[in-house]
Amino acid sequence: MKFRTKAVHAGTKKDATFNAVTTPIYATSIFSFDEIGKNKGYDYTRSGNPTRAALEENIAALEGGVGCSVTATGMAAIHTALLFLKPGDHVIANTDVYGGTYRLFNEVLKPMGFKFSFVDMRNLDAVKSAVTPETKMIWVETPSNPFLHITDIAGVVAIAKNKKLLTVADNTFLSPYFQRPLELGVDIVVHSTTKYLNGHSDIVGGAIIYSTKELQERGNFLVNATGVSGSPFDAWLVLRGVKTLALRMEAHQNNAFKIAQFLEGHANVKKVFYPGLNSHPQQDLIKKQMTGFGGIVTFELDTAKVPLNAFFKKLKYFALAVSLGGVESLIEAPRFMSHASMGKEGLKNSGITEETVRISAGIEDAEDLIEDLEQALKG
Ligand code: PLP
Repeated sequence: MKFRTKAVHAGTKKDATFNAVTTPIYATSIFSFDEIGKNKGYDYTRSGNPTRAALEENIAALEGGVGCSVTATGMAAIHTALLFLKPGDHVIANTDVYGGTYRLFNEVLKPMGFKFSFVDMRNLDAVKSAVTPETKMIWVETPSNPFLHITDIAGVVAIAKNKKLLTVADNTFLSPYFQRPLELGVDIVVHSTTKYLNGHSDIVGGAIIYSTKELQERGNFLVNATGVSGSPFDAWLVLRGVKTLALRMEAHQNNAFKIAQFLEGHANVKKVFYPGLNSHPQQDLIKKQMTGFGGIVTFELDTAKVPLNAFFKKLKYFALAVSLGGVESLIEAPRFMSHASMGKEGLKNSGITEETVRISAGIEDAEDLIEDLEQALKG
């Protein structure tokens, strides 16, 4: 089965009761037993639910994994992946990981005894040098958030395999349509399904996709034991959204590309970050591991010429909002919004300033979006 066929069909089984073409929402917390020890595969929705199972099969197929656990949020998926480790273990991650990931690592897990090093993963030597005898995991988020720096996934996997470390990739930004880390040797992929997989900004959710049955077994255990599994309603919405993933990703990318080109030539924009631009310095790596550039564009606004809030206020089609990956275009200032939780030091290390602006290109007409940006950038 090819990608678009999987997106529509994987996990959806013929409904035995009424031949419903779409997967029903099993809105039940409990499933009865026929007799002691005999049920139809489900007993309690925290541990398993047919609607969620359909989505899990679908996402596992798209990422090329052996299985998947669908969680209540992306952060729940990220937290669960960290529970494969124990206090005292050391994790290496990018300097510019998603702000919520940074907060979880630094403010929740670090006080519990987990150890973290944040390095610029564009430099594999820096990754290698950060490995200590306690290192148990390398956390990859590529393209990074918000600067779209690219980490060489296969390069990180080679370092990790040599030292028997677990590798986890947050694949939220590109989705499996443009990048499949498991095919490059990564052990676990996580997603905020809130973003592209659902694509309509109407749920929060997460997913953990496993490369082996052993990891899947432990992951399912952790999700059930900690109680972070996703609801059947949300699973149904993501299942509906994911069917159009390929079409949406093409549209997001098309708009992002045009926006990036427009911004790059603008006098009131200092710098543009987008993997599709020739000015992105990692072209060879981009071609090697990604089949597309995605829908996120980051830029440095010349706020001496165009004050940040005035710029945001003038926009008609870009909602000033965190998150990304929905059909509508969004804009935000990472320093004050998505990455504010990193604190002063984290922000400084990641290079985020008061001039950094991130756009999540929606699927509207590019001409309208560019016209909108043009009038707002006049200052
Ligand atoms: N990973 C990335 C790359 C994100 O951008 C986000 C949210 O913005 C998350 C994880 C967290 O996901 P959620 O907000 O669904 O908990």
